[in-house]
Amino acid sequence: MLHIELKNISRKYMLDLDTVNAVQGVSLNIEKGEFISIVGHSGSGKTTLLSMMGGILLPTSGTMHYGGIDIFSLDENGLSAYRADKIGYMFQFASLMPVLTAKENLLLPTLFSTKKADPTIDNKAMEYLEMVGLTDKANALPGQLSGGQQRRVAIARALMNDPEVMLADEPTGDLDEETEADIMELLQRINRDKGVTFVLVTHSTELAAKATRRFTMSHGKLLQAS
Ligand code: ADP
Ligand code: MG
Repeated sequence: MLHIELKNISRKYMLDLDTVNAVQGVSLNIEKGEFISIVGHSGSGKTTLLSMMGGILLPTSGTMHYGGIDIFSLDENGLSAYRADKIGYMFQFASLMPVLTAKENLLLPTLFSTKKADPTIDNKAMEYLEMVGLTDKANALPGQLSGGQQRRVAIARALMNDPEVMLADEPTGDLDEETEADIMELLQRINRDKGVTFVLVTHSTELAAKATRRFTMSHGKLLQAS
């Protein structure tokens, strides 16, 4: 059974009298454990596509099957269970809660998981902070961390619900090159060691080249990169 199967997915936005065809007829099959990259100009539809894959945004037409389940036919509860249990989402900016410590930021999304409350959740948060090399920053506030460290907290947070898929929308956009390379290595390690499937949107062709399968997005269309 295919892991993720997008079939002819399109999304329009209505802006006053204008229609924006943000994503146009995208079909894509993803196997478990793949690392896919998508490169494209601003406005080409990357975030719109990723949001649909994450069950955050509904398509105007088309279907997505996840492990054989027709995701967009689910009701609101089904969709939120899909988001909370299967998907780890990394946004362009770290988007940490500024008044919560690094560890508290990790614990926050587990409040919304439909999985059973886990008495060892605190240990798990520490384990993931260790994985991203931030054991000593557990009690630091985001404002006390560097950009790269904040990004690591966001990665650890996205992993807390043991997602099968990580959707990363320009996760290194605002970082310097060296930190960007470190974060990329971390993502590849998670892919390798935990078997998590990755879809990475980036404007860096250098990072994109490290993926196992590469695509470009242009005017809402997804094209296989050579
Ligand atoms: P990218 O992530 O590649 O920069 P987006 O998916 O954000 O592209 O946007 C694709 C197109 O859809 C752009 O033309 C953008 O202006 C438009 N768009 C995105 N979100 C909305 C929205 N909520 N309402 C109207 N138009 C939107
Ligand atoms: Mg975007």
